Amino acid sequence: MKNKHLHFATRTIHAGYDPHQNHGALTPPIHTSSTFAFNTVEQGGDAFAGENDHYIYSRLGTPSQQQLEQRLADLEGSEAALVTASGMGAITSAIWSLVQAGDEIIADKSLYGCTFSFFEHGLKKFGVTVNYMDLSKPQFLTEHITKRTKLVYTESPSNPNMRLVDIAAVADITRQHGIKFMVDNTFCTPYLQNPISLGAHIVVHSATKYLGGHGDLIAGVVAGSAEDLLHIRQFGLKDMTGAVISGHDVALLMRGLKTLHVRMDRHCENAQKVAEYLNESPYIKQVDYPGLNGFSQAELAKKQMRQPGGMLAFELQGDRAQAAAFVNQLQLILCAVSLGDTESLIQHPASMTHSTYTEEELIAHLISPTLLRLSVGLEHIDDIIADIDQALESVFNGGSGNKELSVFA
Ligand SMILES: *Cc1c(COP(=O)(O)O)cnc(C)c1O
Repeated sequence: MKNKHLHFATRTIHAGYDPHQNHGALTPPIHTSSTFAFNTVEQGGDAFAGENDHYIYSRLGTPSQQQLEQRLADLEGSEAALVTASGMGAITSAIWSLVQAGDEIIADKSLYGCTFSFFEHGLKKFGVTVNYMDLSKPQFLTEHITKRTKLVYTESPSNPNMRLVDIAAVADITRQHGIKFMVDNTFCTPYLQNPISLGAHIVVHSATKYLGGHGDLIAGVVAGSAEDLLHIRQFGLKDMTGAVISGHDVALLMRGLKTLHVRMDRHCENAQKVAEYLNESPYIKQVDYPGLNGFSQAELAKKQMRQPGGMLAFELQGDRAQAAAFVNQLQLILCAVSLGDTESLIQHPASMTHSTYTEEELIAHLISPTLLRLSVGLEHIDDIIADIDQALESVFNGGSGNKELSVFA
C-alpha cells in the first residue's frame, strides 16, 4: 500500500515500520548500540563514502531512529526528516548548517525564548546578523531582504502570543529570492498544519511537546528536502551540535506519535471551550486563540490550520502581581513551562520562558507583563474550567478558592 493514500491517523501508527521485517514485533526494537560492525574494511569504506546504507555510528542514525524519521517525514509531507536530542538541537543543527559569518537571517518578532537567545547571544557572536520584523505582514518582507539574507525564520502560531504568519505568502517571497524559509511547527504538529505543503523549505519541532505528548522526553525534529537533511545530519548534527537522540527516547517518541491525532482532537476541543469561557469573563482583558471568531487572524487560521490547536494566550485585567496571584491560586492546572502534555500547564512568559528578554525587548516582541500562556491538557473540561473559575474569583473577588480541585488536597 502507498502511504499517501492512507489517512493521517493510519500513518501515525504504521508509516515507516513493517513488523514483518522485524520478526513480527509489533513495536520496533530499541537500538542502544553506539556503533555498527562491518564485514570488511571495504564495506566500511563504502559506508563512509555513502555507497551503501550500512549503519556506521549512532551519531549518524540507528535503525529505529530511521523508522521514526520515515514516519515523521511521511506526516510532514517532506522527503526526509531527522530526529534530535531536543528542539533546540534541531533548530541549532539546522541553522548552523545553513549560515556562515556575514550572512543575515530575518526572523519574526515573536519567538520561543531560547531560539531568540540562540539568535541574539549565539549566532551574533559568530558574525551572523538576525533582523526581526513583523512577519504577520509579509508585504514588508521584500524590503528587509538583502544580498546577504540566507534564511527567513518563523513560528506559527508564535510562542507565546499566538500570532500567525501566512506561511504560503512568506514561502512565495523566499522562493522568488532563492532563500530558505524555516518554520517551527511545534504548536500545530503535522496533524494541524503542514508548512512544507504551503511552500516552506524546512520544518523544525520540539518533539518534547505534542509529538511526544506525555512530558517524559526531550526531543526535536527537522524535516525538509533529502539534500538539506543529509547536510544537516552529516554536518550540523554530527559535527556542530552532536544533539543526538537516545534509543530509549526514540521508542517513547514512536509510542507518543501513535495517539497524536486522538490527543490533538481533544486538546483542540478543550482549548476551544476554555477560550470561549475566558472570552466571556469580566476579569480577562484579551484572549488570543485562533478558534475564536474575534481572533484578529481568524481567516488566516482557517486557511492554513485544520484546527485551532491546544494553546492559548490571555491577559488578565489588573497588573503583573495579579497575573502571578492567579497562577499561584490554580489547584489542578500546574505552573510549568513546556506544553502539549496530557496535564494542563500554565506559565508567565515575562517571568519564565521569556525572562532572557530585557524590558525593552519584551515590549518590542509583544509580550505584555500580564500575558499568560496556557497549554490546555486532556483532563475533563469541566474540571479545567472550574479551576480557572475559582482562581479568578479568588484573585478578583476575594473568594477562598476551591482546594477540592487539587488532587493532592
Ligand atoms: C519548547 C520549544 C522549543 C525548544 O524545544 P526543546 O525540546 O525544549 O529543546 C522550540 N520551539 C518551540 C515553539 C517550543 O515550544
